[in-house]
Amino acid sequence: MEKILIVDDSAVQAEQLSAILAGEYNVTAAQTAAEGLREAGSGDYSLILMDVVMPEMDGFTLLKKLQEQPVTKNIPVILITGLSDVEYEQRGLMLGAVDYITKPLRPPVVKARVHTHIKLYNYRREFEEHSMLDPLTGIANRRKYDRSCIAKWYDAARMQVTFSVCMLDIDHFKAYNNMYGHPAGDQVLSAVAKTVSSYLQRSTDFFARYSGEEFVALFLGERSEKLYEHMRKIRQAVENLHIPHDPSISEWVTVSIGGVTVVPPAEGSYALYLKIADAMLYDAKKNGRNRVVWADERMRQLKEK
Ligand code: GH3
Ligand code: MG
Ligand code: MG
Repeated sequence: MEKILIVDDSAVQAEQLSAILAGEYNVTAAQTAAEGLREAGSGDYSLILMDVVMPEMDGFTLLKKLQEQPVTKNIPVILITGLSDVEYEQRGLMLGAVDYITKPLRPPVVKARVHTHIKLYNYRREFEEHSMLDPLTGIANRRKYDRSCIAKWYDAARMQVTFSVCMLDIDHFKAYNNMYGHPAGDQVLSAVAKTVSSYLQRSTDFFARYSGEEFVALFLGERSEKLYEHMRKIRQAVENLHIPHDPSISEWVTVSIGGVTVVPPAEGSYALYLKIADAMLYDAKKNGRNRVVWADERMRQLKEK
């Protein structure tokens, strides 16, 4: 059931609203704006119904605060206003409320407006989720990566934990396409993404298609030796898929992996470490492919064979 939050200092009005919506929605009521703000930030609400006039913090201030927080800024807010509150309506809509309902409450109108805005909100969420996925492999796409990488870097910097970035690239993939065709190449991309994903299941793991046959992974709080070993497992798992390659080049489809682990230094930048990961990948390619090269916290190389 969709969750709706009512923020209203009048218990009678909140009760009235709840009664109208209770059958179809999971309704929670907050009596003050501060309580509403806290509740909105902790629950996954699909809609907020808010009284404009409240003591201490009013509805407009609450609206502004909701829009400042990433977790609440997209939740649609419907204002509840009195018949004489034309200015309030204008101000609320200009501040980003999606709609208003005037008192006295008419149950069919309340239901219809609530229903419409929840439907729109769900369309929007679905659309946004979709726009962050790579259609071929089903993993996060470049857009999602672009939005996530810097935030993760700052998370690590703030918490002073290790940050790792890893590039993974399919070996001799152009030759594979030439031999087996592009559609077969697409299947390989999917299979590789699926295999690698299955090894990156921690809540802090991030894995995305970076471009073409190149993938990127980000990690928080992992030690380089452990990650290096984990990446070797992944490299081996791809080889163990036993997807035949062009025999003149390689028996199976394989990947090369380059990465780096660092506790973000004050003067460091994400871009620099992405470059280092790329340089490690280049090293793995140069040294024969189907291998992992990793720069540890002291920028010493861990490498295979
Ligand atoms: P290396 O081992 O040095 O990485 O060689 P490579 O051939 O894999 O690298 P290169 O960058 O020369 O070629 C990448 C190839 O990946 C070329 C391109 O046709 C193929 N590719 C990129 N995106 C896709 C895709 O979505 N589907 C398919 N089938 N092929 C793709
Ligand atoms: Mg390649
Ligand atoms: Mg490439």
